[in-house]
Amino acid sequence: MTEKTFKFVVVGGGIAGVTCAEQLASQFPSADVALLTAAPLIKAVCNFKQVSKTLEEFDVEERPSSVLEEKYPNLRVIQSAVKALHAQQHTLQTVDGLEIHYEKLCICSGGRPKLLTQDNPYVLGIRDTDSAQEFQKRLSKARRIVVVGNGGIALELVYEVEGCEVIWAVKDKAIGNTFFDAGAAQFLIPSLDTDKPERAATCKRARYTIEGPAATQGLAVGGGGDRQGQRRGLEEPGSALGPDWHEGISLRGAEEVSHRVSVEYQSEVKQIYTHQDFLLSPLASQTADTGSWPVYAQLTNGKTFGCDFIVSATGVVPNTEPFLQGNSFALAEDSGLKVDDHMMTSEPDIYAAGDVCTAGWEPSHLWQQMRLWTQARQMGWYAGRCMAADVLSETIELDFCFELFSHITKFFNYKVVLLGKFNGQGLGLNQELLVRCTKGHEYVKVVLSGGRMLGAVLIGETDLEETFENLILNQMDLTPYGEELLNPNIDIEDYFD
Ligand code: FAD
Repeated sequence: MTEKTFKFVVVGGGIAGVTCAEQLASQFPSADVALLTAAPLIKAVCNFKQVSKTLEEFDVEERPSSVLEEKYPNLRVIQSAVKALHAQQHTLQTVDGLEIHYEKLCICSGGRPKLLTQDNPYVLGIRDTDSAQEFQKRLSKARRIVVVGNGGIALELVYEVEGCEVIWAVKDKAIGNTFFDAGAAQFLIPSLDTDKPERAATCKRARYTIEGPAATQGLAVGGGGDRQGQRRGLEEPGSALGPDWHEGISLRGAEEVSHRVSVEYQSEVKQIYTHQDFLLSPLASQTADTGSWPVYAQLTNGKTFGCDFIVSATGVVPNTEPFLQGNSFALAEDSGLKVDDHMMTSEPDIYAAGDVCTAGWEPSHLWQQMRLWTQARQMGWYAGRCMAADVLSETIELDFCFELFSHITKFFNYKVVLLGKFNGQGLGLNQELLVRCTKGHEYVKVVLSGGRMLGAVLIGETDLEETFENLILNQMDLTPYGEELLNPNIDIEDYFD
């Protein structure tokens, strides 16, 4: 067994881990920092843009780890998966027989898809570049797929897939329940029946393929090399994909159609049958159009669909297993490592950030955790600062980015901005909604409570994000303005200048 000692160790080469390691390496240039990661490529934030006080936009690049080591001479990237943690002894063990001692540790091991069922070759999850490529390969021969889930990945997927019929099973009454309400869903639904606008051919996110054991700069994913099995035969997950993960890969099925999406509302998968099991079951005689499919999904709404494969896009489970045995981490209800307002877990000298952790502090009434790219970056950065403050015996306040939830993304080719309690989360009946909608153009919703703005959903080029962000942050009493707040003939920006 080889032993190594570092002052700071960060586990995970995703956005949270890389941001945390960079923060530590730059703040302590003479300290040894290690970034331990299971995947051969790391994720790096680039083109970072602060859009407003809390809204941020950036691109993410997959890069060989050497890029990080060149930038920070005191940072070592070790490609080896952690298999055990001994929190009392401050040591980690990796699958390659390394024993790593740390003074402070930050766990940023992300999450993995919460699959409907394990080990079914007809059920796919999408998480990292490899799984996205596998999906693309299978889709190219598919005539019909069933997509299960109602979060961001499912939303993007059903919109992007062409040339293949999509049966979309959502457990809620409306699509996109995680991100918005039924009104916004109604606004977006027509996009599923229209042809997608042509995209610019270039992919703004640089990607790399792996050649041999070391990562080298190479072709974009769209270049098509089959990397399945090339990844050292390991089961360890790569980093989570993020915004525009589908750019540069063609999501085309085997048929000559554009969009063909049927939404099955309020339905989940009850049972999955192989072709043979299905034929032997009573369902075969009860199902109108049985066809001949490799797999069949029986939904809770009573319908059964045959398909080429099923995509399980029902969220993620935090990757905590290697760290739990023998230790006593406090876990949250969603199985994440519970962290306090300094990103500290319940074990001494161990911090956590990104998808693997769950915010355990009393949050601001305008913020909630969502496992998103932006929060992974913010948490990784803040965790690094907290670790540094701890070492230097300095005090540190919860960062401003946790004051107001804010997120910019794209759904169905519309710009989407979400602010604060955009869905009235936790407000119950104590909320008033103002909505303005122009079909095919924009959807604006504000959530008010006691006359103050607590949240907003902005779809389309509304140009309202900064003004609304200010109104939410300053908690001004908006009662005198009433519905005028959304009057399209009033320049709201001038109004509140
Ligand atoms: P990850 O990126 O998952 O990184 C975890 C790292 O830990 C990886 O490098 C992995 O190899 C490593 N690791 C795991 N286990 C071990 C171990 N035992 N030992 C060593 N290393 C280990 N977010 C958005 O904001 N907008 C979007 O549009 C969006 N779209 C998405 C689309 C898809 C298909 C997916 C899957 C996610 C999407 N997300 C999106 C979510 C976003 O990508 C994640 O929230 C974010 O990337 C999480 O970052 P992370 O660093 O916490 O974890």
